Order: sequence, then structure tokens, then C-alpha cells
Amino acid sequence: MNYYSTNGQAPLATLEKAVTKGLAEDRGLYMPERIKPLPKDFFDEMPNLSFHEIAYRVADCFFGEDVPADDLRRIVTETLSFDCPLVKVEEGIYCLELFHGPTLAFKDVGARFMARLLQYFSSPSEETGRGVVNVLVATSGDTGSAVANGFLGVEGIHVYVLYPKGKVSPIQECQFTTLGQNITAVEVDGTFDDCQRLVKSAFVDEEINVHMRLTSANSINVARFLPQSFYYFWAVAQMLNEELRVKNEELKLPYQPESLNRQIVCCVPSGNFGNICSALFGKRMGLPISRFIAANNRNSVFYEYLQSGEYRPRPSVATLANAMDVGDPSNFARIYDLYGHSHEAICSDISGATYTDEQIADTIRQCLRDTGYQLDPHGACGYRALKEGLRPGEVGFFLETAHPAKFKDTVERITGQPVEIPARLAAFMRGQKQSTPMSKDFADFKAYLLSM
Ligand SMILES: *Cc1c(COP(=O)(O)O)cnc(C)c1O
Repeated sequence: MNYYSTNGQAPLATLEKAVTKGLAEDRGLYMPERIKPLPKDFFDEMPNLSFHEIAYRVADCFFGEDVPADDLRRIVTETLSFDCPLVKVEEGIYCLELFHGPTLAFKDVGARFMARLLQYFSSPSEETGRGVVNVLVATSGDTGSAVANGFLGVEGIHVYVLYPKGKVSPIQECQFTTLGQNITAVEVDGTFDDCQRLVKSAFVDEEINVHMRLTSANSINVARFLPQSFYYFWAVAQMLNEELRVKNEELKLPYQPESLNRQIVCCVPSGNFGNICSALFGKRMGLPISRFIAANNRNSVFYEYLQSGEYRPRPSVATLANAMDVGDPSNFARIYDLYGHSHEAICSDISGATYTDEQIADTIRQCLRDTGYQLDPHGACGYRALKEGLRPGEVGFFLETAHPAKFKDTVERITGQPVEIPARLAAFMRGQKQSTPMSKDFADFKAYLLSM
């Protein structure tokens, strides 16, 4: 399958090129030329399939023409070494927990898949002395840890993680600054948007590209964002199972998939909009989700676009949900493209919400008090937007995108209750921090890369 650029000025790319280049020559984002719908019988049997099987069937639609079935199955299985369970929080509201991976955030899924696909494409059999592949990644917190851990120890690949100095939590920081081996952390004196700009500029800089093979692992990479659609299918499969079980017990009916006629709503806490974009692809493939809610913190550029029809990026502001502090969400270009540049079409599938830090804190307290469920600041935006947005006859799920322990101090300050740290997170916190200081000036970053 070929990939085109959202800017329309670059040649079509193969999957290998789209994955290794990341960004198209015209600075556009790659989009698959076709989105293959899954057949009706797949959806009929979906509630009875395993997560691995569902994910493989979805992966096959995107990557099946370019990666042999055995390799693709292995990549999917190795990627999903943990579950993404759907948990009932209260009547009509479910939470898709995406924090059971190695770095306790949803980005583990895309990062693990991409590391394995990139390794597949740069395997020695096809290697013609092309040298080490360098992954450049800008992070506002969770991307860096997911990518660094996804690639840790993978031969032939070196990862540079750029992060804004003082703007990620100590717990997030230790997950990519303590690893060593093929992972280098670069501490930029600036914001996340500065980090993103440095990475984007490096990709289009000819001198750097002659000097070293570069690839991006940000959510703009098709190998990171497409696999995120796996867990939306799994969420719906779990929801159908649970809702039908309850309903059929009440009605004393045998299992009947048709009997669930409630509309399913999906609410995604959003920053760079890669995650929700994967969900929108899922809907195009036939996934029965009736509509989406994009939940923002105070960085509400997308929310304002929905209201006004005008997209006006601006510098991000720092919030409690810091992985969503994005002032110019990259994947807006993909959503815009997917809906044929139509504001009306976008609004018919997606609505928005935006919350202040105070509202996020209130929501964390309210949810814990009323349901016993401990949210993190990102999931809190999702929970609240779903709760406020759900209409009669609808049932919904929101994404819990990170474990509350990743924001331990914030969450404990808000609730006054201790948050337990999972063992795999505690292990990172015992490591030694190593990072390279950097200004936000591209000339400095360029000189640094050319010296490597
Ligand atoms: C990255 C991240 C988000 C935002 O996801 P996007 O795909 O950038 O919209 C939300 N929550 C957490 C915890 C994250 O790490």
C-alpha cells in the first residue's frame, strides 16, 4: 500500500519509506492511500475473538500487503505483551485502561509496534551498509519514555529524546533519562513546541540527512499511530460482551449481538490528536462507534476550531494534564484530510470539551468519591467530557491514557490520598539520570547532530 502526504506536494511513498522517513518531503503527514473496511462477519464474531486476533485482523488491513503474515502476527503479538482492559466506572460509563504497558501509558502500544516494524525493515538481510537508523523524538512527557523503552537495546537503532527542561514530571523524566545503551536524552531549554520544531527542522535539513539516517517516532509516524486503532476495536468487543451479558441476563435471553441497540460514544483525552485519529480510522473500517468526543485541557485549539471553523494554533500553556499541552496539534492535518477538509463533516463525528486545572482537580476528587475510581489528570478530562456529553440511549467509554502514579504528587495533592507506585515504575526511579543540555536554537542542535 502507498502513502500520500497531507500537503499533496510529495511523491507517494511505500510503507518502508513512510516509516523510515516519518514526515513527507513537503512536511506533510503520511496517510494510507486506502482504508480497507473489515467485513461484517468480522464484526459479528468480534466479541468472541482475543485481543491479539482482533489486532492482527486490523493490522492486516493496513500492513498486510507489505509485511508477510507471519512477521506481522509476531510483531502484533510482541507489541501487545499486556492487556488493555475495559472497566466499568459507573452506569453507562466505561474506562479503557491503556496503562498496563512497560511505561504505564498508551504510547507503549504505538512505540512497541514501530520499534519492531522499523527493525523488520532494517533487518540485515536487506541491509546494504546503510548504517545506524537514528530516531529523533520530541516529548511532552510520555512519548519519550514509551519510545525509548520500545527501542531500548534494539540493534542498529539509536534514539534521541528531546524534552522541555523542567516541564516534565520527575517520574516521567526518569523513564527516558536513566536507560543508557542506545538511548540519549536531550534536555532542551524551551517548551514542547520548541522540541517539536527542532525535530521537524532536522528532518528537512539536507546536511544532517547526508550525515545520518534519520527517522521520527512521534505520533506523526504511521507505524505509531495506526496500531493505536487496535485497542478501540478491543474496547468495543469488551463493551458488547459486558453490556449484552447484563442485558440478556435481565431479559433472560441467550446471547444475541443484535440486541444491543445503544449507540456507543468514544471520548479521547487529546493533545497531538494521534490517538483520536486512530479511532477515526477505526470507524472508517466499520467499527460501530457512533460519535467521538475530543477532551482538551486549557490548550483548546481544536475545541475552538470545532466552534468557529478556523484553526488558529498558538503557543501551549502548562497544565496538570501536561502530555496534552500542545498548541499546534500535528495530527489536525490528518483529521482535516480524512474528512475532505470539511468542517461540517468533522463536526458531525466529533465534538469537543475543554477543562481548566481546577475542573480537572474537581473531577478527580468527584470520581474517586462517587465511584472509587482513581483517575489521572488526562483521564479526568476524558471522564468528565463523556459524563457531561452522554445523551439518553448512549453508552460510552473514555480512555485512561496513563496510570495515576505517573502524576503521583499532583494526584495526591488533589485527593489527599496516597497513590501506590507499581513495581515497574519504581524500578525506573532508582536509576541514574543522564542527559545532554541543549538550547532551543536549531543551529546548536544541528551542530550537535553533525558531531555525532
Ligand atoms: C500523549 C498523551 C495524550 C495525548 O495523546 P495524543 O495522541 O497526542 O492526542 C494524552 N494522555 C497522555 C497520558 C499522553 O501521554
